[in-house]
Amino acid sequence: MPSIENYHDWLRDAHAMEEQAESMLRKMVERLEHYPEFQLRLEQHLVETRQQRALLEEILSQNGIPTSSFKNAMSRMVALSQAVGGMMTPDEVVKSAVSCYAFEHFEIACYTSLIAAAEVVGERQEADVFKTIRQQEQDMADWTADHLSQITNAFLTRSEQPGVEIKK
Ligand code: MG
Ligand code: FE
Repeated sequence: MPSIENYHDWLRDAHAMEEQAESMLRKMVERLEHYPEFQLRLEQHLVETRQQRALLEEILSQNGIPTSSFKNAMSRMVALSQAVGGMMTPDEVVKSAVSCYAFEHFEIACYTSLIAAAEVVGERQEADVFKTIRQQEQDMADWTADHLSQITNAFLTRSEQPGVEIKK
């Protein structure tokens, strides 16, 4: 049964990805107090991300996959998390927006693949859940695409102001 094994593997990966997304978004939200519009949108997506993780946990348990196996897939996301995790640079708002754009597209790709796998193994309802999640990722990706220039401009303007020490 190679298809079902792959499907279960990719479910674990998706769960690890959402855990990663949650910690990334949490860090970004904390640091973006000077960019309330971006911060608010990230807070909304953080709420969605927690719901996505809960939905995946439900689907994992419906597939008989124990919680203890969740952590094993984490290493696959390490490269992306390192690109986002350690930054404390003055231009981190711009780096956050760029990372966010990339991460949301990564999620869209993962769910697109997961939807195909769910359909192959006959899990139609699970495929529908992933389609709903993918739309949330698409909306976040679109928002970021629409605001990337504006965020960059706002950062550059702020950097020009004398006496502004915290540029984030
Ligand atoms: Mg997500
Ligand atoms: Fe997302």
